Amino acid sequence: MRILVTGGAGFIGSNFIRYMLGRYPDYQIINLDKLTYAGNLDNCKDYESNPNYTFVQGDIADEKVVDESAQKVDVIINFAAETHVDRSNNESAPFLQTNIIGVKTLMEAALKHNHERFFQISTDEVYGDIMEGHFSEESVLKPSNPYSASKAAAEMLAMAYHRTHKLPVVISRCSNNYGPYQYPEKIVPFFIKKLMNGEKVPVYGDGANVRDWLHVDDHSRAIDLILHKGKIGEVYNISANEEHSNLDITKRILNILGYLEDRIEFVKDRPGHDVRYAIDASKIRNELGWEPSVKFEMGFEEVVNWYKNNFI
Ligand code: NAD
Repeated sequence: MRILVTGGAGFIGSNFIRYMLGRYPDYQIINLDKLTYAGNLDNCKDYESNPNYTFVQGDIADEKVVDESAQKVDVIINFAAETHVDRSNNESAPFLQTNIIGVKTLMEAALKHNHERFFQISTDEVYGDIMEGHFSEESVLKPSNPYSASKAAAEMLAMAYHRTHKLPVVISRCSNNYGPYQYPEKIVPFFIKKLMNGEKVPVYGDGANVRDWLHVDDHSRAIDLILHKGKIGEVYNISANEEHSNLDITKRILNILGYLEDRIEFVKDRPGHDVRYAIDASKIRNELGWEPSVKFEMGFEEVVNWYKNNFI
């Protein structure tokens, strides 16, 4: 298989390429990434000389650049996105441009080159928050901020291309990922970096907001399954049902690194802050046989220590 991975210099994309090159030694992967502030070619250093891997710097909203790469592959897996909620609350234009227009540009190229699949990597954040119970793939999308709204818009556009133009679309909605190579603006690497710089960690509100955590390698395994066995036109939730409050995550980081709780500083809450994310992943478990394989306690500790050793 020849795959165009977009956003492969970011957190999940770079881990996914590493996983795929290891698992499928005969697959060809082109990584198309604009290298925004969140993209970093160091994330790809260990496989940059792999003969099955090519890097192209470019914007997924640039038709010419996209066409040049799209004509060489069978499928596109779109990770490229603006991803930080706080940034989207301050200025949403880049989110609409990349997360919607970029997806449209990729889908036009996928149609033109008769691709076997267009895989849109989406997020559990498109559902908005839920106080009790879990969202299924059939639940109504009710995003709360410009980031998640742009991701929901992209999904709807993708499903419209599927129905109207017969584009072979699959979509996944994964919960929060933890793992190595994440840009230090998201809670895990951000807090570790602060602590190691001798600073306090800013916890929004009372820290009670709940997120559902999955190791990035379990996300990669789920994407691999959906890529090969997922049904065209379907959406798959991906979750290990590992719910933790932001305060719990913060205390775990402090504990693993040997800091006291006086390093916590409660700060003014994020506007519109989603209270709890929770999704039901029984579809991918029952239909495709996916199961998370990394145990949270161990996986999380390993990742925190990875950052400790890699920020120096
Ligand atoms: P990230 O911010 O770490 O990386 C995004 C990458 O996309 C960067 O390398 C950046 O340079 C690139 N990029 C941005 N705009 C681009 C453009 N216009 N053209 C080409 N490349 C561009 O993001 P991430 O956390 O790795 O997330 C990847 C995908 O997974 C996103 O679509 C996100 O919505 C989704 N997702 C993330 C999580 C999570 O916990 N991080 C959970 C579920 C879904």
